[in-house]
Amino acid sequence: MLGLALLVSGGLPSVVSAQQVHANLPRSPLEDRALEEPIEALSEIEQALVTAAPDSLEHTTLMLAKANACRVLANWQCQRDAGMAARLSADAVKQPLLAVRGEIAEARGRIALQDFARAEQILGETRIRLQSHPDAELLADVFLAQSSMSDRLGKHAVAVQNARDGLAALGKVKSPGIEARLWRNLARASGFLGDSAQAHEALSNARAAIETMADPKLAAELDLELSRLARARGDAAEQVAAGTRILGLADRLKNSQLEGMGQEVLGLAALDLGNWQEANRRLNAAYRSFDTLNLNRDALRVLRDLVKLEVDHGTNPESARTLVHSLIEREAGLDRQERAQAGQDFDAQLKYVQQNFELQQLETEAGLAKARAQSASDRERLNYAIIAIAVLALLMLTVWFGLQRRSHQRLAAALAEKQRSDTALEESERLLRNISDQTPALIAYIDRDQRYRFVNAHYQEVFQADPGSLIGRSVSEMRSPEIYEQLRPNLEKVLAGEATEFETTGFTEQGMPRHFRVSFIPDRAADGSVRGLYSLAFEITAMKEAERKLEELSRTDALTGLPNRRWFDQALRVALSRGNRQHHGFALLYLDIDHFKQINDRYGHSAGDQVLCEFARRLRACVRTEDLVTRIGGDEFVILAEDCDTIDAASGIANKLLKAMEPPVNVDIYSIRCSTSIGIAWLHGVEDSNVAIKLADDALYAAKAAGRNTFRVAGTG
Ligand code: GH3
Ligand code: MG
Repeated sequence: MLGLALLVSGGLPSVVSAQQVHANLPRSPLEDRALEEPIEALSEIEQALVTAAPDSLEHTTLMLAKANACRVLANWQCQRDAGMAARLSADAVKQPLLAVRGEIAEARGRIALQDFARAEQILGETRIRLQSHPDAELLADVFLAQSSMSDRLGKHAVAVQNARDGLAALGKVKSPGIEARLWRNLARASGFLGDSAQAHEALSNARAAIETMADPKLAAELDLELSRLARARGDAAEQVAAGTRILGLADRLKNSQLEGMGQEVLGLAALDLGNWQEANRRLNAAYRSFDTLNLNRDALRVLRDLVKLEVDHGTNPESARTLVHSLIEREAGLDRQERAQAGQDFDAQLKYVQQNFELQQLETEAGLAKARAQSASDRERLNYAIIAIAVLALLMLTVWFGLQRRSHQRLAAALAEKQRSDTALEESERLLRNISDQTPALIAYIDRDQRYRFVNAHYQEVFQADPGSLIGRSVSEMRSPEIYEQLRPNLEKVLAGEATEFETTGFTEQGMPRHFRVSFIPDRAADGSVRGLYSLAFEITAMKEAERKLEELSRTDALTGLPNRRWFDQALRVALSRGNRQHHGFALLYLDIDHFKQINDRYGHSAGDQVLCEFARRLRACVRTEDLVTRIGGDEFVILAEDCDTIDAASGIANKLLKAMEPPVNVDIYSIRCSTSIGIAWLHGVEDSNVAIKLADDALYAAKAAGRNTFRVAGTG
């Protein structure tokens, strides 16, 4: 196809000055000259390099100029080596962007030499280098080289992407030469991918980009692309326009190759228009141009079109035969060349694939090594983590054991303390119980429900049961109804919160009374409520007995043991009251010993006492048990005979008494005679004791008056 092989195989040699790229970087004047007069420039560059210091900026710029001269001369080894030398020199003088230019030149040389793998590697490194020294134009140039390489490798989609990346990298930076070439590559790759619309648009953009600059070589390349696209869509006018522009450039540049290209474009356009003569003329001119330049592939392509034209529309068979022979020879020659080229291409592709494979292998190995290292590192980290966890666990266990030990020690101490306090409490309780048991009192704790919660040992004696069996039993259950009736109001009082003291009296099984002095004290909870009571009961039976005895003594005549005047007075009042209530009468016998003073005087006071005692005994002996015999003073005695219901009966008693006194009383050696006078009061309806006594006294007086040793009766009713 027209133009394609030319473009793919390195492009047209540039013979005119294009607008400088990387104009802001240090540059040798020989570089620009190399574009126009590469051979002369190269010679001057070599001379200059002899004197230039190896690691100097001049050396760097000269090497870049040399790489460009070599490129123009299509000496790719030279371009590669000069680029490499420029890079080393630029690195030495610390010119990273010049080093990038050197790298791009080297990579382009290698691409042309089909050393794609190394070229790709260099361009990759260049991009990395540009990350620390950003430069939009240089980065776009790198993408440009990459898109050219991708295109050559048949990776057209990648080529499109590389070109787009280059355009994006360039952004708004003005670099028409690079921009136009990026659009050109995009157009070419799009054409290969069948996207003619995108190819056309890219080409238009490329043309627009170079409008402001003079780059005939690039303009020609674009026109070639344009004509190819125009032919594909059958636009002959566009083809003619493009071909005419190419021819104009060829003429201006005196360039035979461009001349051939322009003639071929116009020849094909004439062919498409059916203008056989014009086509024949143009194609022949193109063929000659290519043939002269030994551009066999281009010449053969044109030759095919000429043969076809001659066969289809020719009039001269000889001419056709000559053309066919030429075609066959050229085909054969090119076949050899192409086979060699194809082999070379195949080798290059294979080399690239192999290098890529090796690279992938290396990457895989590197990945594996990295993974292994990562795994080892992970393992190491895991080991460290395990060790750290183990150490931590050990620490935690140590701390835990420490805490546990301390806790055990504290627990042991607390237990010992509790044991001590329990022992102390037990001891205290034992002591308290001992004290309470030894206390001569009934001590108990009774709860709100009137149940015994604590009783001391004395309850054993009272209840004739184990005190323990009382615990939990209620008071009403344990005490007789009579006793409980005494306790109940006091229990209610103390449970209402008021302390109380009272006495109770019970009886033994033998019927003996037992008296207790009881104190109830409320037991208050923290909130003030009464939750029970303390009961303290002292037995006061002995005291009561003593009291009773004292009382009895106070009412008894000490000499004779008979009830005394006090007792008599009480008894008389009771008897009068009872007699009146029951409406019956009773006898009161008032006795006075006759001439007792004489007994005292004659036998002594003591003998008189004994006489009194004997007198009393005889009185007691004469009356019934229930009759009350009293000594009311001196030698005076009174008998209260309540059952004596008649005066006769009373008189009978009086006679009996007089009779009883007849025997003499023996005192020591003496036998003493004593008699008594008796006044009987028959009492019926008498209420006042003084009246009763007066009656009896009056009767006694009468008996005395009657000569003594007799009785008289005075009575009521
Ligand atoms: P009468 O026949 O009139 O009763 O003459 P009497 O001598 O008994 O005189 P009276 O009854 O008035 O005297 C009582 C005497 O009794 C006077 C007193 O000295 C004596 N006496 C009083 N109490 C006691 C006592 O406890 N012991 C002795 N030995 N003599 C007493
Ligand atoms: Mg007397």
